[in-house]
Amino acid sequence: MFCIRCGKRAEIDVYCRDCYKDQIDRELFKYTFKICPSCGKIKIGLDWKSDLKSLENYIEQKLIRHFDDARVDIQENMAIVTRNNIDFEFPLEIDYEEILCPICSRIAGGYYEGEIQLRGAGAKRLLKVITSKFDKSENPYSVKSVREGIDIRFFSSKKALETVRELGLEYKLSRKLHTQIQGKRKYRLTILIRDDGNHTK
Ligand SMILES: [Zn+2]
Ligand SMILES: [Zn+2]
Repeated sequence: MFCIRCGKRAEIDVYCRDCYKDQIDRELFKYTFKICPSCGKIKIGLDWKSDLKSLENYIEQKLIRHFDDARVDIQENMAIVTRNNIDFEFPLEIDYEEILCPICSRIAGGYYEGEIQLRGAGAKRLLKVITSKFDKSENPYSVKSVREGIDIRFFSSKKALETVRELGLEYKLSRKLHTQIQGKRKYRLTILIRDDGNHTK
């Protein structure tokens, strides 16, 4: 069998390896993803995810339809596809389009599950300590200075409480009914933390 394009020995279908590589559609290596400018998550299929592995798997699954195997390295911007045990390397072209993910857009629209109220002279210090523990992609938040101190509005009550407990901070909890959605009561959690600043922690 000889390559129908150049007459060399055919190795893949009716092509030699060079002509096979030439006729691979370069569009297979071009992708556009939506990325959230606030938390950095990327929309992969139907989900928003923050890990590169999911992105690599997604592209590999797309490529495997056309080849025997595919490996993708996002950091190197490279894909290696395999046919008949021969590897072919292609640069990936990935474009990102900035758009708020559903959680961040709810936050931008004013939605929050609760807030941490920092009061006292140590409020600024506490703000740094607490927000350094918040993962913006898991628990997006916004910070507001108020007359009494600082309020941190957060998306996830669970994550906020975990952080405060993990830090061993003293706090007071209160719940306020803020709306009813289809007969279900929705509460907002307030975590009050007072720090008068006179300690050396
Ligand atoms: Zn050829
Ligand atoms: Zn987001």
